[in-house]
Amino acid sequence: MTATILDGRALAQELRAEAKDAIAQLRERIGRAPGLAVVQVEGDAASTRYVRSLNKLCDAVGAAFRLELLPADVAQAELDRLIAALNDDPTVDGVLIQLPLPAGLSAEQAIMGLDYRKDIDGVHPINAGLLAQGRAAFAPNTPAGGMELLRRYGVQLRGVRAAVVGRSAIVGRPMAQLLTLADATVTICHSRTVDLGAVLRECELVCVAAGRPGLITADMIRPGAVVVDFGTNVREDGSLVGDVDFATVVEVAGAITPVPGGTGPVTNAMLLKNLITAATR
Ligand code: NAP
Repeated sequence: MTATILDGRALAQELRAEAKDAIAQLRERIGRAPGLAVVQVEGDAASTRYVRSLNKLCDAVGAAFRLELLPADVAQAELDRLIAALNDDPTVDGVLIQLPLPAGLSAEQAIMGLDYRKDIDGVHPINAGLLAQGRAAFAPNTPAGGMELLRRYGVQLRGVRAAVVGRSAIVGRPMAQLLTLADATVTICHSRTVDLGAVLRECELVCVAAGRPGLITADMIRPGAVVVDFGTNVREDGSLVGDVDFATVVEVAGAITPVPGGTGPVTNAMLLKNLITAATR
């Protein structure tokens, strides 16, 4: 058996087209484009690449993009002041604080200063709390994108046994909460889980966000199970691999996300969804 490939690139394209339409309508209604502000402190090359891709994405769909670039030696007070100003700016609907921040700056303090209604990345504890209570919240974009992939491919979630490998605040935990909201029965696994394979073999859905290439092997997967791989690991030769041993798991699973081309491309497109929601509110 060879699994169905859950194609994140194709879905991202669809989501971008939908966002473009929604933004055009919103412009007519509120008289301006929804605005994204990105707060970046200089010094992280990966952040710079990501910010550039966000700028291109916003240009492509007609959202307003603003980069607030701060010098590497910026003081916390200056960063906090900028975030407070963006909170008060009516042309800014969503604010992204680019992490990691340089040593000496507190990401926690910066995030706490953000208005949770503009937290389209779903990193503010109020959004995490609302999500944990099953209430409307901005969910982090990566797990929200995983859910969107499952939804678009018609994967049944109600009553299924699902495992999430990883319990980070940004991927594993919110994914488990979103699956629970969708009526799956969820087990959260982590580095202290005893006999990971035995837990996963019980499950019809396995979602992995561990950052460990090759962690999930074919013998851990129930035949026909759906496998969602959030892992993004850069190999020495610069190529990208997930946490799942794709070549063997694809022969056992019923459906699987590839890396690259699975959950990754959907993440940014989900950010647009949250931006539109923030602007609509
Ligand atoms: P993280 O904060 O390092 O969390 C990793 C989690 O995996 C932890 O909960 C850890 O358990 C668990 N873990 C580590 N080794 C394990 C093992 N051998 N068995 C079982 N569980 C294990 O990472 P993250 O930020 O959630 O990111 C996870 C992966 O997703 C990374 O590869 C990252 O690059 C990727 N990612 C992808 C996207 C995307 O758009 N697709 C976005 C964000 C992140 P403990 O809690 O016990 O330490």
